[in-house]
Amino acid sequence: MAATIIDGKAIAARVRGEVAEQTRSFIDRHGRRPGLATVLVGGDPASAVYVEAKQRASREVGIEPFDRRLGAESSFEAVAEELERLNNDPAVNGILLQLPLPAQLDPTALTGMIIAEKDVDGLTTTNAGLLALGSPGLRPCTPAGVMVMLEDAGVALEGAEAVVVGRSNLFGKPMAQLLLGANATVTSCHSRTRDLAGVCARADILIAAIGRPRMLGAAHVKQGAVVIDVGMNRITPEEAGNKSGLVGDVDHAAVAEIASAITPVPGGVGPMTIAMLLKNTLQAAHYQAELENMFEEMGRERS
Ligand code: NAP
Repeated sequence: MAATIIDGKAIAARVRGEVAEQTRSFIDRHGRRPGLATVLVGGDPASAVYVEAKQRASREVGIEPFDRRLGAESSFEAVAEELERLNNDPAVNGILLQLPLPAQLDPTALTGMIIAEKDVDGLTTTNAGLLALGSPGLRPCTPAGVMVMLEDAGVALEGAEAVVVGRSNLFGKPMAQLLLGANATVTSCHSRTRDLAGVCARADILIAAIGRPRMLGAAHVKQGAVVIDVGMNRITPEEAGNKSGLVGDVDHAAVAEIASAITPVPGGVGPMTIAMLLKNTLQAAHYQAELENMFEEMGRERS
């Protein structure tokens, strides 16, 4: 029987709707809009498209977008100064430094300059550490989006065998930690994993984030498994069989015959990332408002 399709577009639309509603309540309560700043360095056309999509999505849910652009030749100091200004701007609750950066700039060092409570990408050492400790914090958007999709699809995680292929800091590692936090039994695979097909075929939940078109096929999937395809690979529209030329890391047609549920590419995990960015921005705004209140009350008590 063909797998159920987990519709990322529909789930993302629901999350955005919830964020829009909660943003209205935030504005009623605090008399200001939450703010999200995007920082784009250089003119990479794909990055510009992503940034514009984030700006538009912010506006749609009532979050105020701040669009900061720096030239491709910008120095480390110039980008650091911009991040510092945004760190100190009370109208900005979330900061997103669009990656990749031009070659002369160190992305880890610059991302690390964003203060943890405004790190809506969840990529700073502090937020990565909080996730590793299982403590509350801002979570990376794409793996957090996958958790929402699994919940929406009614997938039971407790005690389940989950296999994550890929161990990047952006996705694979935080994904494995989120699943562990939900009491799944988690295996992380990577380029040196022996018998990848054998390990994957144990999975009740198989998550692929490799960056290789259609690499995981029928031999990697257990009958009835839930398959989440994070891969975004561009091939020709003819090869892909769709207009965008986008395919995932999973051979969708073959695996859909075996899996119980599967995400499509496009229209699966992709749309969740921006939805979760908006959710993180609202979470950051709430946290900062609580901090402000706390400091105000302490100030009153002291006087
Ligand atoms: P990445 O940093 O390049 O990591 C790729 C991972 O795959 C690495 O851990 C690598 O192992 C592993 N790998 C490579 N070849 C392998 C093989 N033959 N067998 C097993 N593992 C292998 O990529 P990423 O940033 O995590 O992204 C992965 C994919 O997800 C990309 O297609 C990306 O576009 C997509 N993605 C989509 C979204 C979204 O939808 N919004 C967000 C993030 C990523 P080693 O560590 O050993 O090198």
